[in-house]
Amino acid sequence: MPLKVFNTLSRKLEAIRPINPKEIRMYTCGPTVYDTAHIGNMRTFMFEDLLKRYLLYKGFQVLHVMNITDVDDRTIERAQTENQSREDITDQYTRLFLEDMETLNILPADHLPRATEFIPQMVESIKILIEKRHAYQTDEGSIYFDVSSYPDYGCLARLDAEELRPGERVADDSYEKEEARDFALWKAHKPSDGDNAWPSPWGKGRPGWHIECSVMSTHFLGEHFDIHCGGVDNIFPHHENEIAQSKCLSDTPFANLWIHGEHLIVDGRKMSKSLGNYYTLRDILDEKLPPEAVRYTLLATNYRQKLNFTFEKVRESQKAINRLRELARRLEAVPSSQEGSDMEPPDRAVEISLDDDLNIAGALGAIFSWAKDLFSYMDNDNLSYASAQTSLKALRRYDTIFGVVYFNLESDLEQELKALIMAREQARQAHDWEKADAIREELRSKGIIIEDTPTGTVWKKG
Ligand code: AMP
Ligand code: ZN
Repeated sequence: MPLKVFNTLSRKLEAIRPINPKEIRMYTCGPTVYDTAHIGNMRTFMFEDLLKRYLLYKGFQVLHVMNITDVDDRTIERAQTENQSREDITDQYTRLFLEDMETLNILPADHLPRATEFIPQMVESIKILIEKRHAYQTDEGSIYFDVSSYPDYGCLARLDAEELRPGERVADDSYEKEEARDFALWKAHKPSDGDNAWPSPWGKGRPGWHIECSVMSTHFLGEHFDIHCGGVDNIFPHHENEIAQSKCLSDTPFANLWIHGEHLIVDGRKMSKSLGNYYTLRDILDEKLPPEAVRYTLLATNYRQKLNFTFEKVRESQKAINRLRELARRLEAVPSSQEGSDMEPPDRAVEISLDDDLNIAGALGAIFSWAKDLFSYMDNDNLSYASAQTSLKALRRYDTIFGVVYFNLESDLEQELKALIMAREQARQAHDWEKADAIREELRSKGIIIEDTPTGTVWKKG
């Protein structure tokens, strides 16, 4: 069955049919690296990770590009308030962002281009838009896209013609639908930009945010590719403007499918820096909650529904992961001599759900009901060894999509072992042989053998 997703462009569920068989080309708008990302941002990157992992599960190759916006209004403003260079600010937050992505087990993109690496290409594209009369220069040397030159302007956000105000201009990178008008492709240098300026035929300046993504996506994926993603707040103006620029540049289709994730909210409002109602990943990990529980929380609500974030939800997620981990341990412990009933893994139910617009809640429901049956068979010593092995393989297979059961597991185990080994060492030093032996036994019951060597205690799996 093909995977169907909601295409914002057509407002319909559409099957993903790759332009090149077997390879899906996908662009996801990356972070603006002016500050630490919050978990609202991470929710969008998480739904994109689910989409990518499920495509990989289905056997596609995925060529994935995510940009890093390292020059725009916000990065320049932040550099000024911090009295640092834009380069230092954006390097620092790019590093933190990539660390957070790794901590959350989000698969890295194949390419992570920074906007500042592509400024000559942006200038070339703007030149073409001027030649094709889709853009014009203002007195101060800025270049604006003329929305009246592209009759389909507003096709993604479904703007009415009367909402457009051609000839009027908006200079900011971000603005609301009510302000739909000609937007900046190139911004002439002004004193508040400091030394953030690049040469161009129109004098020194810097690119507008929207042209950055049009140029970087096309550079890596070609003019016509499969999927373009972002959060719902990207629909207007960012993606609307990207479509206008790209279509006018190449006269070919741009991205086939536009997929947008709903917001993560707190007390009914979008989590955002400007409202001050945000948590970073670090804030949550500081509460002694593990990253896989954050991952599960961000994943488990279907991507087109708002997710109301609470710490309670993260704790519930941890319980859900623990149950699946317990399932794995119990399945591993089924002896090879065990005879009993056979149980089919719920591949079909999982795939039917995920094929239906990534219905992860449905897929998880199928997995937990299978787990419940497995536990009850094992409680009665009535699950065959063959079924236990098949079930373990299925759990691993599903976890290539969810990335929570086997992720971070080894390190948890190691931490627990280290604590036990240290406690035993302390008991030995205090000549409390009884306690030291009890800990050795406890470790043995976990399948760990410890040996005291002249250089310290070492452990191995028994
Ligand atoms: P930014 O760094 O502001 O460009 O945002 C990076 C990504 O995070 C974009 O795709 C936004 O749509 C997304 N985003 C921002 N706030 C939220 C939120 N509260 N919930 C989900 N996604 C968000
Ligand atoms: Zn973008």
